Amino acid sequence: MNILITGAPGSGKGTMSKRIMEHFHLQHVSTGDLFRQNIKNNTEIGKKAREYIEKGLLVPDDVTMAMVQQRFASASEQGFLMDGFPRTLVQAQAFEKIEVAINQPVDLVINMEVDRELLSRRIVGRRMCPKCHRIYNIYNQPPKEEGICDLDGATLTQRADDTQRALNVRLKQYDDLTQPILKFYAQRGIVRNIDASGKVDEVWEKVWQTIVDLVKEQHGQN
Ligand code: AMP
Repeated sequence: MNILITGAPGSGKGTMSKRIMEHFHLQHVSTGDLFRQNIKNNTEIGKKAREYIEKGLLVPDDVTMAMVQQRFASASEQGFLMDGFPRTLVQAQAFEKIEVAINQPVDLVINMEVDRELLSRRIVGRRMCPKCHRIYNIYNQPPKEEGICDLDGATLTQRADDTQRALNVRLKQYDDLTQPILKFYAQRGIVRNIDASGKVDEVWEKVWQTIVDLVKEQHGQN
């Protein structure tokens, strides 16, 4: 089973990906995480990607595809969950070649739908502990003491691309460049739209059901 999860920034892709990984045996491939790792390790890809990410811009397709190719060069037979990729039609088309090469076609695209005001609160309010990576939100999941991690007392940080200004750029990029991939996958009949504006458990219920339905279909039980 191979799944793509897509949606605007703040739609909860990361949170749902974590849950999917806890329940289904898939390799998690998050291009956002891979870029952050490359930046931390100061690799060539990291050096090229940094300025785009900090401005809220998509990293160019050739840099992104080089990183994804590298990741799938050693792919095992196990299924995968792609999180935050593809983000352009060019990436979706290039990935189709990888799907064929590794004989692992995508069988489900989960499209997380959330209205814009909610996205803004989720993203601009997001804070992270640099030590234990716990995520907070100043509006709906604040730490006990402002700016301090409940677990280890570290000073919370905000991702450079989580400001309102960067978010506006990211949303425009999403509308112009990422939305078109839905049409591409809809032609294959594999897109499922999920209303992702509810609480985490409510959204998870829908995502879980969608995946279970697919598993049943693949095993010929209806
Ligand atoms: P994410 O953690 O998925 O929100 O990604 C953080 C940032 O990494 C994005 O705002 C982009 O700048 C960059 N990025 C992640 N995935 C891609 C991709 N598939 N194509 C281009 N840029 C990406």
